Amino acid sequence: MSGTAAGGGRADALESLLGDSGVDALLVTELTNVEYLTGFTGTNGLVLVAPGLRVFLTDFRYVERAAEEVGEGWERPEVGRELLPHVFERVAGNKIAKLGFEDAHVSVRQLEQLREKAPEGAELVAAGDLVEQLRMVKDDEELKAIAAAARLADEVYEWAIAQGLIGKTERAVAVAAEARMRDLGAEPSFPSIVAGGPNGALPHAEPGDREIAAGELVVFDMGAKLDGYCSDCTRTFATGEVSDLAREVYELVRIAQQAALEAVLPGAGGKAVDTVARDLIAAGGHGERFGHGLGHGVGIEIHEKPTLSVASEDVLAAGNVVTVEPGIYVAGEVGVRIEDLVIVRDGAPENLSSLSKELTLVG
Ligand code: ZN
Ligand code: ZN
Repeated sequence: MSGTAAGGGRADALESLLGDSGVDALLVTELTNVEYLTGFTGTNGLVLVAPGLRVFLTDFRYVERAAEEVGEGWERPEVGRELLPHVFERVAGNKIAKLGFEDAHVSVRQLEQLREKAPEGAELVAAGDLVEQLRMVKDDEELKAIAAAARLADEVYEWAIAQGLIGKTERAVAVAAEARMRDLGAEPSFPSIVAGGPNGALPHAEPGDREIAAGELVVFDMGAKLDGYCSDCTRTFATGEVSDLAREVYELVRIAQQAALEAVLPGAGGKAVDTVARDLIAAGGHGERFGHGLGHGVGIEIHEKPTLSVASEDVLAAGNVVTVEPGIYVAGEVGVRIEDLVIVRDGAPENLSSLSKELTLVG
């Protein structure tokens, strides 16, 4: 992530959310949120944001990195090893009465420590997911980074297809694809899934020593992380003529995925979009074999908001980046998942996944 992207605009947007959330300031301790706001990628850092106040803190190990990465507009006082005493100095100095904290990320123990050390007159207030809310809507620079990660992953897919699958172990295919990804300058955004035949029926299968045979389906789920942003894509390939059941299930997933893609629009509920795919799969007789949500947001993290699922209360907005990934898993026999990564746009979503969704034969 570049320092300019993480400049003052995001902190300004955060500042504008503070009042409605009932806090005077927010202490941001979650590292991906710190990265989003400041550009800092080290493993120890936090920020304090209040009207007119932008403080970034890290320990002595990361002072140089912070000087390089942290965007303009952030104060970077050098504080040695302990960060919290300085936070509380600023809280007291700025007469902050309600100090918000990220309750989804702060442990009970950490909260006790915060409460013990907070200055007189400062109350700690659970502030919810303020930075995550901002992160749901990507700016142009973020969208470019995600699109570039998706393109790179597609290149790796094309390379892997050219190498072939039959006779290789799932693990060998995954390891080779990830090595190729690193050669191209990215890293995997999550551990790749390569699952052939009956293993494809395990939605989160770990690639193992099973050799991929001719005449089966292979679920291949992979993403790249490039310039701090993730991509995510799944294709299910055929290694030759497959069973009637495999064909039927593949077609049903393909149709459900396409219909759900068309429902990805600003204002659509995450639950409603999930339902589009789920109803089609149920009507095809495989309702109970689609056991996960339809999709998830993607950005700095591989799983973020908004969520497309039965339980989702999120509403899509232009600039969200989500996956659309229905699957059908027939235990002991076969699995199919097809996953695209799309930008929510007015009109129709922009699909960042370029690979064909026709059942593709890979030798
Ligand atoms: Zn995936
Ligand atoms: Zn996914």
